[in-house]
Amino acid sequence: MSAAGGRTETPEVFAGVDIGGTTTQVVLCTADLAVIDSTEVPTPASAGGQAMVRAALDALGALRAKVPSRLLGIGIGAAGVVDSRTGRILVASDSFNSWAGFAVTRTVEETLGVPAFLDNDVNAFLRGETAKGAVVDEPYVLGMTLGTGVGGALWLNGELFDGPHGAAGELGHIPGFGDLHCTCGGRGHLETLASGRAIRARYGERTGRLLTARDVAGAAADGDPDAIAVYEAAGAGLARAILLTAGLTDITTCVIGGGVSRAWDLLQPPMLAALAAEPPVSGHQVKVVQAVLGSGAVAIGAASRARTEVGVVTRV
Ligand SMILES: [Zn+2]
Repeated sequence: MSAAGGRTETPEVFAGVDIGGTTTQVVLCTADLAVIDSTEVPTPASAGGQAMVRAALDALGALRAKVPSRLLGIGIGAAGVVDSRTGRILVASDSFNSWAGFAVTRTVEETLGVPAFLDNDVNAFLRGETAKGAVVDEPYVLGMTLGTGVGGALWLNGELFDGPHGAAGELGHIPGFGDLHCTCGGRGHLETLASGRAIRARYGERTGRLLTARDVAGAAADGDPDAIAVYEAAGAGLARAILLTAGLTDITTCVIGGGVSRAWDLLQPPMLAALAAEPPVSGHQVKVVQAVLGSGAVAIGAASRARTEVGVVTRV
């Protein structure tokens, strides 16, 4: 998008923001999504939407003060249910005050004077991994995040497919994964097997000991059969979710991120075994890869949304 020629000019940049329950991450990217600089600030979740957006934009201002640049657009990824078309938060968890209903993109656009876009954080994660991460140039991808909960998102025909309610690909809370009680009030959801909270709870039920998911992974690495069984159940559950998605959408690839996915050596073998046991009718195995962007995926993915949307406008 820059003018040709060797003279020095102000670089055109995009910003990406990840507003999480405790931390807000901000990245400043070049037009090809290389990260120029990034920062993290605490999320003032109890202080309301206006304060949360102000904290993010103050952090962005500090980044931009270091590098003269022309901001072309900004993307925001946020937890909860969001309306990606109107840029509003629809449903937020109890830890956020005055966030549900907040008009995020309008507030940001009024402050910065550039186009702003809002995505659910799992959708932004998948945008990031397809734009700059583990699944670049893959047109049919299921993305899953294994954190406190289990999130999912779909990338079909080279673009995000979020559905009419923004919830396409949300595999964490569909039934058919056993009979355990889920944090949402339902039963038998994938989240009861594969989230950080579930790993802790399932291990606790077996042993009477409450460890973090990371410590359960450590115990499994040391040969603890209960810890190994908990991760095997998680891996098998993930494989089932992948197979269901492959049967419905013919995805070729699944990318998995989030804190629990750091125990890849424990999750991958049971996943691959379960996938191999039930090959899709296409005859093509789904490739499963670990996410590579780490905690930056949501912010980079949010920036990639801004680049895509603004790019469409400026190419006209
Ligand atoms: Zn549930």
